[in-house]
Amino acid sequence: MHRAMTILALLAATGAFAQVVSPIEPDEHTLLLYRFEGDGGTIVDGGPLRLDGSVVAGEGEDQRAVDAPQRADGVCGQALTLASRQAIVPASTPDHLRGMDQLTVEVWFRSTNEDASHRQRIVLYWEHYLISIFEGGRLVGHLYDQDGTKYVLRGHQPIHPGRWYQAALTWDGERAKLWLNGREQATVRMSGTINAVPGSGLQVGAVGDDWFEGQIDELRISNVARTAFPAARQYDFCRPTETLAISPGTARMVFEPLVPESVTSVACSASLGDVAEGSDTIAAKMMEPYGGGLLLGSTEVVLDVPEGLTGERVCTARVTYEHDGETVTQEREFPMTIEPMVEPPPIEFRGAWTHSHRIEDPEDIFSRMAAAGLNAAVMRVRRGETAYYNSALGPISEVPFDNANLIEDCVAACKRHGIDLHCYVNNFPVGSPRSDYAQQLREEGRWQKNARGEDVPWLCPSHPANLDLVEAAMVELVRDYDIAGVQYDFIRYGGDDVCFCDRCRASFEERIGHPVESWPDDCLEDGPLHDVWLDHRADLITAAVRRTSAAVRAQDPGAVISAAVFAMPPEEAKRRVGQEWDLWCREGLLDALCPMSYTADNAAYEQTVSLILDAVGDYVPVYAGIGLRSGGGVMRYPEQLAAKINIARRLGTPGFNMFCITPTTDAPETVVIPLRETLLPGDGRPRQ
Ligand SMILES: [Zn+2]
Repeated sequence: MHRAMTILALLAATGAFAQVVSPIEPDEHTLLLYRFEGDGGTIVDGGPLRLDGSVVAGEGEDQRAVDAPQRADGVCGQALTLASRQAIVPASTPDHLRGMDQLTVEVWFRSTNEDASHRQRIVLYWEHYLISIFEGGRLVGHLYDQDGTKYVLRGHQPIHPGRWYQAALTWDGERAKLWLNGREQATVRMSGTINAVPGSGLQVGAVGDDWFEGQIDELRISNVARTAFPAARQYDFCRPTETLAISPGTARMVFEPLVPESVTSVACSASLGDVAEGSDTIAAKMMEPYGGGLLLGSTEVVLDVPEGLTGERVCTARVTYEHDGETVTQEREFPMTIEPMVEPPPIEFRGAWTHSHRIEDPEDIFSRMAAAGLNAAVMRVRRGETAYYNSALGPISEVPFDNANLIEDCVAACKRHGIDLHCYVNNFPVGSPRSDYAQQLREEGRWQKNARGEDVPWLCPSHPANLDLVEAAMVELVRDYDIAGVQYDFIRYGGDDVCFCDRCRASFEERIGHPVESWPDDCLEDGPLHDVWLDHRADLITAAVRRTSAAVRAQDPGAVISAAVFAMPPEEAKRRVGQEWDLWCREGLLDALCPMSYTADNAAYEQTVSLILDAVGDYVPVYAGIGLRSGGGVMRYPEQLAAKINIARRLGTPGFNMFCITPTTDAPETVVIPLRETLLPGDGRPRQ
């Protein structure tokens, strides 16, 4: 460690590298270590097995050695450049590299392939362990146990071309983990040993169709599960919370510097060109031990983005500390796009989904939503046969917190705070599949069946009693409670493999006027009846929407009927889950559409909301979904929400709905309220 730190200080003193990354040193667990220093055709292994490698190109008889592989600046000294269909292969792949009872594969990479649909193998030891970038720019790890069983770990952060990342795949005998830049991305349980069968040998990169293109640096394979990746954390010492900033607004840099434990304080500063800067100092006593004689600090620096500043900018982050009499400085630059704030429309639906079964204190949650500038709440109250309120329909009411008047109390709290309360229902899933009642429904043939004839815990949309329940549940809400509206949710199938029950079959055969010759094969993908089967399946769901919306309107003509729907091209939603939401809008079955557009990626978000607006046209207002705390990730900073609201407004949506603000969240205070002075003034209602 001492030698490594001396090198650090030297690099910093010469100013040759603004980036501080410690070189990897071989230890007793190291099996293979490629650092890519030196030149010539030999890739030198610094590990005990001396498995020097070479670069090869092409396949089979055309395979040839690359005599002078290209080198480039790496994260630590030099890196190796791999062109398409090139790979590094060691002289052999000995027993030591397989059959282990613990493992770490760690590697730095910078992809230069811009094709997001291209699959890239970074480390490829087929049916042992693999690190790859899959379609969509996600890191994926594969491990194979002694039986050849595959374990898959999927990263959740996007991998961008042109940037350095460190990936690591570890397994400690019980749990496999995938790491990106020293932070855990995914974990899965696995026991036994790594597959011991020799197989086709280790490659770095690939000569086949799934080639990696770019730079590789600091590759190590070890027979222990490492849990600390100091070089990765040193490199990744700062990140912006959001790369799309709104003017006026804020940009925020999160610092996590990793420094030697003798350091007494660390200065963190950030600047946006010469228009904004900020700084903070972390005292050593506020830092946590990281192991290996290092301390990890944490702070945030917020930059004010002034009004009128727009376009492509660079945010510079800098960490400075004194060590061994030298001043060490680390610096990184981050591209940032700044767009002008779109003024909020005078009337705007500002909503959040919430869940009745988690609401113990309606006054608390709805007063906090109002403080955040919201004017609508969309609260789940039922899943299939299971109600989370005092419902008269069916035997299963899981009344939360022993409050038989929960919805009444929520209505009263919402009225006090100027919030329109909409109630939503998960229409077709079975809510409590293991309950006696749900099992009775299954025996009565009310569950869906897949193509293999197995019961699936969703209510079949061709059973009259299920249609009665979907309708009665929505009608009960507008009849018994003083709410603004009702929303369909899970108004669809669970997938493309349902419903193949006898009743659905009979209704389909009635539609086509003859028996299906080969059931269900003719209806499946590539079957001759597949297209008309998809039409029929979607029509069953649409029929449920038709009769339910008519009944709700008959009961309460003023109630707003909305639907939470798949945020994708409508033809795809129809094919995948039988949800023809564009037809429902055109036919006037809905008053508003809430697409579940929860993606964190700004470009994908803009594309998705745009295509939904195009598909809906002027038929109904679209309240753009925003993933606050959803399957698409968790927003922790106001800048993340600001970017999504501004995009939605720029596209012309008359409102947004966030998933979700459910107790015991702190999202109103940490993410939404900081935007009150800029993006969320007032309450989105017309001035009296
Ligand atoms: Zn069915």
